[in-house]
Amino acid sequence: MGEILVLAESKEGSLEKPTLELIHAAKGIASDLGVGSATLLLGNSITELSNEIAGYGLDKVYKLENSLFKDFIGDVWVAAIEQVCKNLNPDAVLISHSDIGREIAPRLAYRLNSIATTDCISLSVNQDDKTIIKNKPIYGGNAIAVLKSLKQPEIITLRKNCFPLAEASSEKSEIVELPVEISQDVVKVEILERKQVDTVELDKAEVIISGGRGIASDEDFKMLEQLADLIKKAGANAMVGCSRPIVDMGWMSSDHQVGLTGTMVAPGIYLAIGISGAIQHLVGMVRSKKIIAINTDPGCNMLKVADYGLVDDYTEIIPHLIKKMEELS
Ligand SMILES: Cc1cc2nc3c(=O)[nH]c(=O)nc-3n(C[C@H](O)[C@H](O)[C@H](O)COP(=O)(O)OP(=O)(O)OC[C@H]3O[C@@H](n4cnc5c(N)ncnc54)[C@H](O)[C@@H]3O)c2cc1C
Repeated sequence: MGEILVLAESKEGSLEKPTLELIHAAKGIASDLGVGSATLLLGNSITELSNEIAGYGLDKVYKLENSLFKDFIGDVWVAAIEQVCKNLNPDAVLISHSDIGREIAPRLAYRLNSIATTDCISLSVNQDDKTIIKNKPIYGGNAIAVLKSLKQPEIITLRKNCFPLAEASSEKSEIVELPVEISQDVVKVEILERKQVDTVELDKAEVIISGGRGIASDEDFKMLEQLADLIKKAGANAMVGCSRPIVDMGWMSSDHQVGLTGTMVAPGIYLAIGISGAIQHLVGMVRSKKIIAINTDPGCNMLKVADYGLVDDYTEIIPHLIKKMEELS
């Protein structure tokens, strides 16, 4: 029987959220294909983490423990995963479209003489020929390609926040320690220094205060920042997002952009202020748990997808919200 493998990613001992999306996707695909499923975990001192992953109910957790896996080094990880794939011969390897995934996927596909399909936003199974069908945006998001691979094991990266998170399961995965032969010789680059880059990780926000072209000036964007800061003070991880025209006008950097060509987000609350709800924006935020829209146009798309809508000028609402939050803090 074949297998769908998921490459787990963790940061400082905690599982990265996209790994749970991969696990959810792998469960569905493996069940539709009638094959097994497993998570592949590389690291150093990973007993606790492997137990945690085992709680998400894939058939197995393959644990690769080695001090060389402590930090991500592309050369080392690719060599190790290549060995695993050559031994296990999985049908597919699902990897997050993260910095790590973007480095690993094409290199792994090349070494396995296979194919990498990157940045997929949905997966399904064609029951006629039992192939995995992948959808990915192309031409800057103007079209969606529907692809199937003619080679295995296929390497697939999944865009963050496009799949639901796996839920904990009462059925625990079997944990299997895999020996891998890795020597220091595979390391071709030496990491001299790691620098923390200050970017906005919108996909980690619990609340997103997002502004669009309806916001009259970049000065008014400061109101949104003030509101986000007050929500942060109240204990929720709030960030400011925006639609693409705001980035095009240079009011916000591109890491704040939500949408097909920006970040896909699914926060607890998405407050859309002066955003009309163009499809390229909606696909990036429609999985938010609660959507609140403030818009002067009662017929706009954003109000159609919103859980709560206020048909009004934002300048009539946001200052009151700020005042209320200040009173509460
Ligand atoms: C290939 C491609 C990729 C794209 N990718 C993205 C993407 O990733 N993300 C993205 O956002 N866009 C993207 N776009 C652009 C997208 O098509 C829309 O043009 C854009 O989302 C519109 O932004 P907006 O809603 O802020 O502006 P508009 O559509 O101009 O809407 C402004 C809204 O503000 C309201 N408004 C005006 N004044 C007020 C007021 N005083 N108070 C309250 N409401 C007010 C109006 O009623 C209107 O609904 C993409 C386009 C293409 C072609």
